[in-house]
Amino acid sequence: MSVFSHPEFDGHEHVAFHHDQASGLRAIIAVHSTRLGPGLGGCRMWPYASDAEALTDVLRLSRGMTYKAALAGLPQGGGKSVILGDPRHDKSPALMRAMGRFVESLNGRYIVAEDSGTSVPDIRLMAEQTRHVGGLADAASIAAGRSGDPSPATALGVFIGLQAAVRAALGRDDLRGLKVAIQGVGNVGYRLAKHLHDAGAKLWVTDLHQPAVDRAVAEFGATAVAMEAIHALDVDVFAPCALGAVLNETRIPQIKAKVIAGAANNQLAKPRDGQRVLDHGLLYAPDYVINAGGIIDIHYEGPGYNEAVVHAHLQRIGTTLTEIFTRSFATERPTGEIADAMAEAIFRA
Ligand code: NAD
Repeated sequence: MSVFSHPEFDGHEHVAFHHDQASGLRAIIAVHSTRLGPGLGGCRMWPYASDAEALTDVLRLSRGMTYKAALAGLPQGGGKSVILGDPRHDKSPALMRAMGRFVESLNGRYIVAEDSGTSVPDIRLMAEQTRHVGGLADAASIAAGRSGDPSPATALGVFIGLQAAVRAALGRDDLRGLKVAIQGVGNVGYRLAKHLHDAGAKLWVTDLHQPAVDRAVAEFGATAVAMEAIHALDVDVFAPCALGAVLNETRIPQIKAKVIAGAANNQLAKPRDGQRVLDHGLLYAPDYVINAGGIIDIHYEGPGYNEAVVHAHLQRIGTTLTEIFTRSFATERPTGEIADAMAEAIFRA
């Protein structure tokens, strides 16, 4: 298993492997860049089929965090960690504390937060061993009814970004009567649906989990749609809020919406699908730009959390996307490519 010559290595500053005999922890921390600040990123726990698969995942995710933080205007770099194991069977307090000691050993180069397979209680156990944690609400925030869950901020950021995309593609500010198809009404998709419903939009929804669909139908008057039909509806906006790789060679030509704006990570199946989306006349809000509300929230989490400050920062997602769309229209280049170039100009400056 190579590291320096790994296809995803991309000049990572730091890649650390750790084994803790007592708890059985096997974990990797990757720090892509600390040029703008410590590498912030979640800790994913996953039953990887091999060490090589875990390394590929952590390198790819850590690099992505550098781009996300840079375009979100945060004084933060990119990092990520993975724990090799099944979160349903292999998790223990000892394992999480050992992970906390591993994070601490990097002396603040890496700040850990939640990701798939880890949750707020896990991060609290890590926080017993290290100060370098993000996304934990303090006592005052908990008393104010917040848990540290970044989903509400992610959903608000996606709503702001969707408005910017609608303005750029359809020339309208008023969302009343706007037709939006939402794929996945979970933590983020449900809250996005609420913002859109409050703004007067008409919703079509689908989800793997029927109660999630029923809730959106009951609360927002949404129309339930079959899972395989959602992307191809005759609507204004398609909002992928479930899984990645939705935008592929087969589905892109079937999309009738003019705007793609949703929370899901890694929406393009392949990098060249960015060009396909453009050729098909769709305006795509790059996923890591529009879904940055979560890390913006995590950045501010802790003592002195001020919701007005966080919301002002979330508004900048709309400004950044407008800049990306303007440059994409002027150069006829895919929005994702423009976003990457803008991010690189920031963190390589
Ligand atoms: P979630 O698990 O709460 O919701 C996802 C929903 O999608 C679930 O209800 C699930 O049943 C549904 N789903 C899964 N597969 C589906 C399919 N094939 N068709 C339709 N529905 C399907 O997750 P979330 O926290 O809402 O995150 C949604 C997406 O946004 C993910 O891609 C996540 O990586 C991304 N994201 C989330 C955050 C955050 O703050 N939660 C931040 C950035 C990015």
